[in-house]
Amino acid sequence: MNDDFVTAGVNLQFHYAAGAAASRFLCALRDEQKIFGARCPECRRVLAPARSFCPRCFVETNEWLEVGPGGTLSAFVAPPFAQLLEPALTLALIRLDGADTAFVHRLGEFDAPMLRRGLRVAPVFAASRQGHILDLAYFKPVEFDNAHSI
Ligand SMILES: [Zn+2]
Repeated sequence: MNDDFVTAGVNLQFHYAAGAAASRFLCALRDEQKIFGARCPECRRVLAPARSFCPRCFVETNEWLEVGPGGTLSAFVAPPFAQLLEPALTLALIRLDGADTAFVHRLGEFDAPMLRRGLRVAPVFAASRQGHILDLAYFKPVEFDNAHSI
């Protein structure tokens, strides 16, 4: 604190409606362990996660399709402490098979030296799923495309 400001944190927990597209997307993760994208009728890009509209064309999407489950690592941030966490986690941009956009999620079960653009990854779903983005717990490096449960 100085003479003019008080520094404080506020931790707010709240519930909100995810919306039709996000709800459908999250229910598919929870109930089917499937990842859905939506194709834009104008630019034909497959947006993943699925969205109700294309942010480039500003038109509604109406064609949903399953993407992944495997994908390719496009970029990642690996802080020095990432491997001290259990499981080791870092943030990544993943281009899911069949999608044209990057999917932001976590990486786990990796050794830092193996991380590189183009690395093949597959999802690891949480054993207990609740309709949350972390029902897909993280992606892990693989040599093949298979989904796994933890
Ligand atoms: Zn579009």
